[in-house]
Amino acid sequence: MSAGAGQAERIMRFIYALRSKGVTDPAVLRAMERIDRGAFVRGIFAERAYEDMPLPIACGQTISQPSVVALMTEALEVTPRDKVLEVGTGSGYQAAILSQLARRVYTVERHRRLVLEARAVFEALDLVNITALSADGSFGLPEQAPFDRIVVTAAAEDPPGPLLAQLREGGIMVVPVGQSDTVQSLIKVRRTASGYDYEELRPVRFVPLLEGMAQE
Ligand code: SAH
Repeated sequence: MSAGAGQAERIMRFIYALRSKGVTDPAVLRAMERIDRGAFVRGIFAERAYEDMPLPIACGQTISQPSVVALMTEALEVTPRDKVLEVGTGSGYQAAILSQLARRVYTVERHRRLVLEARAVFEALDLVNITALSADGSFGLPEQAPFDRIVVTAAAEDPPGPLLAQLREGGIMVVPVGQSDTVQSLIKVRRTASGYDYEELRPVRFVPLLEGMAQE
C-alpha cells in the first residue's frame, strides 16, 4: 500500500482484494466495507489491517485473514432473522461482520482478556447485537440454543457434538476440521429433518480448538 493512502482508498483496495479472492455476496461485501478491521488490530500490526493476511493479536492468537472471514460468512448464508453462535471470539472481527447480517450474535472465547478487549471494541463501534462471553465453546452455549447458524473459528478434529446438537433444523454450521498443525478443511454442515449433510469447502489453517478456559 502506498504511503499516505487515504482511508477511503484503503477500504476500496481491501474490498477489491476480497472480490479477487472470490467473495461475491453483496451483503457480505457491504459488511466488510462497513466494519473497520483496523479497530480490531493493535500495536505494530495495525498498519497492516487492510492487507489480506492473518495478524497476531493478544494471548498468542490471530485475527483471521479477511478473505477467509468473508468466505466463511458467505458459506453461512446468514439471514436477518438469524441467531448466530461464533466459537472463538479472538479479536471480535468475525463477530462484528456477522452482526451486520444477523439479528443476534453470541460469541464465546476461552481467553477472558480477549473477551474484554472485544467487548470494548463492540461498544466503541456501537455494535449492540453482539454478546461476548468467556466460555469453553466446545460445549456451545446451551442456555441460548438452538442457533440458526454456528461458525467455529478454531480447528477441531471433528465437528463438536454439542455444537451439532445446538444447531436448529435447517441450520448451517461452518467449522474447520483437521489435526491442529496439518491441513485442515473447512466443512459446511446442514442440519436436516433426518440428520446432517456435510460439504467440504476448501483447505484452511486455524489455531486449534482447545479444551477448558485459558489462564488469562
Ligand atoms: N474469530 C476470530 C479469530 C479467532 S482465532 C477473529 O475474528 O479475530 C481462534 C480463537 O479461538 C482464539 O482466540 C482461541 O483462544 C479461541 N478458542 C480456541 N479454543 C476455544 C474454545 N474451546 N472455546 C472458545 N474459544 C476457543
